[in-house]
Amino acid sequence: MNERLVLDRVIRTYQQGQNRLEVLRGASLAIQAGEIVALIGPSGAGKSTLLHVAGLLDRADGGEVVVAGRPASAMGEAERTRSRRELIGFIYQFHYLLADFSALENVVLPQLVAGKSRAAATARATALLEGLGLGARLAHRPARLSGGEQQRVAIARALANEPKILLADEPTGNLDMRTAETVFNELVGLAREHGLAALIATHNNDLAVRLDRTVRLEDGLLVPA
Ligand code: ADP
Repeated sequence: MNERLVLDRVIRTYQQGQNRLEVLRGASLAIQAGEIVALIGPSGAGKSTLLHVAGLLDRADGGEVVVAGRPASAMGEAERTRSRRELIGFIYQFHYLLADFSALENVVLPQLVAGKSRAAATARATALLEGLGLGARLAHRPARLSGGEQQRVAIARALANEPKILLADEPTGNLDMRTAETVFNELVGLAREHGLAALIATHNNDLAVRLDRTVRLEDGLLVPA
């Protein structure tokens, strides 16, 4: 059983005024360790909703999410938080780095929260950032970094606690085409190197086809694309 992330008939509905909006109506997916899957679908199809439910940031209204063998429905709040912190790396379209902290500190902090020593956290953060070509930028605050550099720091932060699962929501959607291409390749390279199970939402078909397979959100269901 190498399935790292399983969505089993996941349902998620939102209440919008008088209306119930069924965004996920039984979405199913299983991703193995080492497998990188593209998630596509038009804007509003529910990609962010799906990633949030898969990443334990939001709860399903029905169905089950299984993270590294543990069903989310069996997790208490403490285990959900721990799983999110230690098993799952999340990358958003916007970097959400802490503005008052250096690139290095942004990658060190989540490791301290997870209980690592400062020395070990600093060593890992430095290695990750150097691997992403940011060796000369460690002490820079996010505002002094380019968009591509900011997103590389966000990638390093997502990988800082050695997660088993990587979830990314349009990770290069804010970057110009050439930078997007480079950063996307670096992200995929790291996911492969670490044998992660990854689900990457993207609008960019040229990028999606480089991944192991593509699933599309259609009418609240996941279908092979
Ligand atoms: P995508 O990421 O594919 O663009 P989203 O998951 O962001 O899609 O949104 C899917 C649908 O759910 C949209 O119609 C959106 O307006 C709606 N939606 C998303 N979040 C909420 C929320 N917190 N409350 C109500 N409706 C929401």
